[in-house]
Amino acid sequence: MTQMYDLLVVGAGIVGLAHAYEASKRGLKVAVVEKDAQCVGASIRNFGFVTVSGQSAKDTWRRAVYASEQWALIAPQAGIDIIHRGSWVVCQRPEAVCVAQAFLKTTMGRDCQFFSKDQYPELPALGHANTDNLNLGSSLGLLYSPHEFRVESREAIPQLAAWLASACDVDFFWGMEVLSIDGMRVNTPAQQFLAQRVVICPGAAIHGIAKPYLSHHDLKLCTLQMLRIRPDAQFVLPGSVMTDNSLARYLGWSELPEAVALKQVIRNEMPEYIAEGIHLIAVQSADGSLVVGDSHRYGRSEQVFSSEHIDRLIIQLLQQTLRITRCDIVERWSGVYLSSDVEDAIIEAVSPTLRVAVVSSGTGASTAFGLASDNLDDWLRSTT
Ligand SMILES: Cc1cc2nc3c(=O)[nH]c(=O)nc-3n(C[C@H](O)[C@H](O)[C@H](O)COP(=O)(O)OP(=O)(O)OC[C@H]3O[C@@H](n4cnc5c(N)ncnc54)[C@H](O)[C@@H]3O)c2cc1C
Repeated sequence: MTQMYDLLVVGAGIVGLAHAYEASKRGLKVAVVEKDAQCVGASIRNFGFVTVSGQSAKDTWRRAVYASEQWALIAPQAGIDIIHRGSWVVCQRPEAVCVAQAFLKTTMGRDCQFFSKDQYPELPALGHANTDNLNLGSSLGLLYSPHEFRVESREAIPQLAAWLASACDVDFFWGMEVLSIDGMRVNTPAQQFLAQRVVICPGAAIHGIAKPYLSHHDLKLCTLQMLRIRPDAQFVLPGSVMTDNSLARYLGWSELPEAVALKQVIRNEMPEYIAEGIHLIAVQSADGSLVVGDSHRYGRSEQVFSSEHIDRLIIQLLQQTLRITRCDIVERWSGVYLSSDVEDAIIEAVSPTLRVAVVSSGTGASTAFGLASDNLDDWLRSTT
């Protein structure tokens, strides 16, 4: 006898898992059906950088605030380690300082701080360890945010799935591709499922089952290059680290009026970085290695060929930003996420029983729980 699920989730990336979590919190019986033997999509290829500061104002920032609260609740229960907390933007230009200081005056800047050069010696006494590992020589100030933290996604996503199965009674079906959905029937080559509602969370697989429902959105695929490097022994980051061009890129900062001048300066001074969409994020793993990136190439399909030039530019920026001499590359990979010029995320209500949910801005690790919560609140309200 086939079981009837209240919600069937297609896809076991963070967006699918967040839907499973939020649905089970609301008392629904949930199944997750994933085409691979494990999640191998963007959700395990990312930095695991759960960010609030820098997220685009309004819905995306609100969802990020909610999502970080959910990560904080779930992580200890699921055995997910928080590797480090807080983020630092090393400001090298006066225009970057203007953006940082303007950000502090917004609601989103709550609890963040700006440290000018003359305050650097006080940082250890203020509880900020390891800031001396930042290359502060030519910097003008540091924007600190306490809201961010990091999980090791390649471990955290399987741990989250295992916890949802054991603690939330979510049924997982791995290695089954959903090929069609016919009312309450969800068809895979191996098995048919029955569900009152189905949500497709396909990530970048927009040419598959979700294609007819997303084709009216102007979606692109963004391919990112990532590196894992082994720094000197004993090297410790103070938290996640970014630079001026992150202030010019992340919408929560770059949409501020004060960012106009910074974006212009960066365009003039860093044309190679602009051409490849490179800005620096450096985070650390439990074994001391650093995950470093990233670049952004946009197209209608994945960019297949990695560029050594991009890796060199990323490493160059890293060495300008951190006091790091040894920089051995131990892993390289690329990841793909959906990108839209107009929407950070999409909830597509196809019918009363079928929805598609995607993050279209490279912020899924930081916002998926918020997106799922919004989707389910709206869906359950509209059909009860
Ligand atoms: C390199 C990189 C770095 C990033 N860094 C960050 C970061 O630090 N912080 C942050 O917030 N965001 C980051 N992002 C963005 C974030 O990772 C994505 O927004 C998020 O992972 C998208 O999750 P998803 O569940 O939609 O997609 P995915 O993780 O790709 O999962 C989709 C799943 O659906 C499955 N699927 C698709 N079709 C079917 C089908 N027909 N049947 C069954 N299963 C199916 C796929 O196999 C896949 O497992 C980064 C992205 C990349 C690529």
